[in-house]
Amino acid sequence: MINIDNIKNTNWNNKNISIIGYGKSGIAAAKLCKTLNCNLFISDCSNKDITDLEVDYEVGGHSNKLFGSDLIITSPGVPSKDGIISECIEKEIPFVSEVEFASWFTSSPIIAITGSNGKTTTTSLLSQILLNANLDVLTGGNIGTPFSENVIIENSSKLSNCIHVLEVSSFQMEYVYNFSPTISCLLNISEDHMDRYDDMDEYLNAKLNIAKNLVEPAWLVYNADDSVLSTSLKNRHRTKLFSLSSNMQAYYQINNQKIYDNNNNMLIALDDIKLNGNHNLQNILAAATISNLLGVSDKIISQSVSNFHPLNHRIELVRDYNGIQFINDSKATNVDSVKVAIESFFNINLILGGQLKGNLDFTQLIPSMENRVNAIVCYGESGEYIYKQLKPYGFDIIVIEQFQAAIHSSIPSLNSKGCVLLSPGCASFDQFDSYKERGDEFKRIINEYNFETN
Ligand code: ADP
Repeated sequence: MINIDNIKNTNWNNKNISIIGYGKSGIAAAKLCKTLNCNLFISDCSNKDITDLEVDYEVGGHSNKLFGSDLIITSPGVPSKDGIISECIEKEIPFVSEVEFASWFTSSPIIAITGSNGKTTTTSLLSQILLNANLDVLTGGNIGTPFSENVIIENSSKLSNCIHVLEVSSFQMEYVYNFSPTISCLLNISEDHMDRYDDMDEYLNAKLNIAKNLVEPAWLVYNADDSVLSTSLKNRHRTKLFSLSSNMQAYYQINNQKIYDNNNNMLIALDDIKLNGNHNLQNILAAATISNLLGVSDKIISQSVSNFHPLNHRIELVRDYNGIQFINDSKATNVDSVKVAIESFFNINLILGGQLKGNLDFTQLIPSMENRVNAIVCYGESGEYIYKQLKPYGFDIIVIEQFQAAIHSSIPSLNSKGCVLLSPGCASFDQFDSYKERGDEFKRIINEYNFETN
């Protein structure tokens, strides 16, 4: 019988390990398993071709064969309330996320970042700072390269100065036992993924798993301006805070448009930062606080921050035509990320819509919309749903099902000022393969639009 409390020290030789979900992280976990001399079984509900790995597998559904597993590794895409998963859990088969599993095979420091928004921006910035500090940074998790893949790279190249910087989603933190980052970071928490979780508490608890095994010398860095986080974490030990307002417990303070450390040395002037908006200042303070805990000098942090450019599809300026700005924020897939985008502009023609992630409450946007939003176009599967929520507030609002037509109808006449903001607040999968494809389509439509002939 496997000791679940200390599962990471199990000898997997000849044990039965199954992987549910053969996507990017499932494939990487399978490759890592192949180094363990275990009996590997892969189970995927789609009809993928798995023959290349030369392992036992099933596709098109999950069978009872999973019940013979000593361990099941699950991919983040597999819903936790899936029938087979509940059955395996009932049978007390140890069930772990791919991130938990990969963490057993590295002894290098792990910095893990989560939050409802800002994960990719903060993870990318932190990675850049640590690279500039000459560390062997392996960036992965939700951001692209699966953690298992990076662990394989680490172990095969024997990196001496290795540090893992991991972006983790709540899905990746659902089945965590021994995962124990050197520094974990919680950026914020707001309504998201309500199609997966029963309520906010369930979602929050998944995120809080990031620090469930926190013991000295580890740290938990979190956003003290986030009321949910500060309430849930106020009694935790080994925490470092960051905040936009004056908070004596935070290492960095913002004063007179400059960021100072707690020795009153200036880190950087806000004018020297290329990322826009208070939300990005929070991301910067998070990355700087983590870097400081790792002993990186303020000089390296400030140089890295001032050279860091906004990432694509996040409040990205696509075109400025005659004073009308066109902004691609396709990565905004929940209500709070739309809020920060709205608060960055005036005279907005806003495009909302796509695939709904549960019963999100778009009326939370009303206080930010007043005096900023002129017109709203709702598109896609969620178009009618959003329309019904916002129409009573008196906005000039329409529903147009198809994305391209929705974008065209949001473009104002030539003599107006202001901006067209694609900040959809929903997933893209009803009409696109990804938020990137949606953002690229927006850019194509806008860049090809002929203002003279339309
Ligand atoms: P994630 O990886 O968590 O989705 P990103 O950095 O990719 O985060 O940004 C996703 C969306 O959230 C973008 O629309 C961006 O403008 C917005 N955003 C970024 N940082 C924050 C933050 N700290 N708070 C709220 N929204 C943010």
